[in-house]
Amino acid sequence: MAASGKVASFRLPPLPTIGEIIKLYNLRAQKQLSQNFLLDLRLTDKIVRQAGNLKDACVCEVGPGPGGLTRSILNAGAADVLVVEKDSRFIPGLQLISEAAPNKVRIVHGDVLSYRMDRGFPAHIARKWDEDPPDLHIIGNLPFSVSTPLMIKWLEEMANRSGPFMYGRTRLTLTFQKEVAERLTANPGSRQRSRLSIMAQYLSTVKNCFTIPGRAFVPKPDVDVGVVHFTPLAQPQIQQPFKLVEKLVRNAFQFRRKHCHKGLEMLFPEAQRYRLTEELLRHAEVDPTLRPTDLSIGQFRALADVYSRLCRENHTLFSYDFRKELRQKRQSHRVIKREKNVNG
Ligand code: SAM
Repeated sequence: MAASGKVASFRLPPLPTIGEIIKLYNLRAQKQLSQNFLLDLRLTDKIVRQAGNLKDACVCEVGPGPGGLTRSILNAGAADVLVVEKDSRFIPGLQLISEAAPNKVRIVHGDVLSYRMDRGFPAHIARKWDEDPPDLHIIGNLPFSVSTPLMIKWLEEMANRSGPFMYGRTRLTLTFQKEVAERLTANPGSRQRSRLSIMAQYLSTVKNCFTIPGRAFVPKPDVDVGVVHFTPLAQPQIQQPFKLVEKLVRNAFQFRRKHCHKGLEMLFPEAQRYRLTEELLRHAEVDPTLRPTDLSIGQFRALADVYSRLCRENHTLFSYDFRKELRQKRQSHRVIKREKNVNG
C-alpha cells in the first residue's frame, strides 16, 4: 500500500522504445502478414482505454507484434496478459516486455485462427452468461487479412458460447479497416449496412469508438483504421441457431440494391420458390419491396423465426443451396452439349 493509502499501480520500468525494438531485432514489416505497427504509446493507451477498466484483468492480445499495445495493456493494470503472435521474429522483443513485468505475460507463438482460447485462462474467472461480463478482454490491432474471418469465427463462438465465450460475455476491443468498422456498426438505411452489421448487432452491442488515420502506422497502410468495441448481449436479438441466421442474412443480402424478396427467394427450391417467399414475408410482416439494407434486426428476427418454422415443416429445406443447384444445372447443360457434339 502506498503512503497516501492508494494501491500502488503497476508501471513498466523504462524499456527501449518500440522504434528501438524494431531496429534492435530488425523487425521489418511483412506485407503478407499485414504488419502495420503502432509506435505512439499515447495512441495505444487510447485504444486500451476503450476496453474499460483493466485493473487486475485477464487479457488476450492478438497479434502483438513489437508490443506497443502490450505495454499499454500492462500499464492499465492487467494481471494476466496472454499474447498470441504468429511471426517468430517478434518473440524476443515480447520476452523483453515479459521480463519487465514478471509473472504477467504469457507468450504463445501460434496462429490466432486456430488457437484454443477456451483453454487459455483459469476456469475460476468464468461468469454465467446472464451475469456481468467476466474480467477477460480480447484486445488487438488485428492483421487486416485475418480480421474479418476471425470476427466471423468469434461471432459464431459468441452465439454458441464457446471459444473465448466459454468464460461468459467476454468483451472485445479490436481494430478494423475503417470501412469494415463502419459496416459492423451501420444502422438500417445506411449505405454500409451489410451482412456483417446484422451478424454483429444481433449478438452484441457494437460501438465504433474512434478512427485512427493510416499515417499513425508504420508502414502507413492504404486505409484508415477503426477501433470497435463489442459486448455480447445477454439475450441475443435473434433466438435461432447461428447457421440458420447466417444463411438467411447471406441470401437476403445477395442482391443488396434490389427488393429484399429477390434474395430471400433463393432460400427455396424453384418449384416452391414464389409460394414460400410470399409466406415467409407475409408471416414475418416484412414489406417485400424494402431493400435488405433497410431491414431492422427486429425484421430479421421475424424472418428467422418464420424461416425456422418452414425448415421444421420441411426437413430438406435448410440444406437447399441454390448455388449448388445452379452448378449442377450448368454441369448437365455442358454434358448434354458435349453429347450433342459427339452424336453430330
Ligand atoms: N499489435 C501490433 C501493433 O499494433 O503495432 C502489431 C500489429 S500488425 C497490424 C499485426 C500483427 O499480427 C503482426 O505482428 C503479425 O505478425 C500478427 N499476425 C498476423 N497474422 C496472425 C495470426 N494469424 N495469428 C497471430 N498473429 C498474427
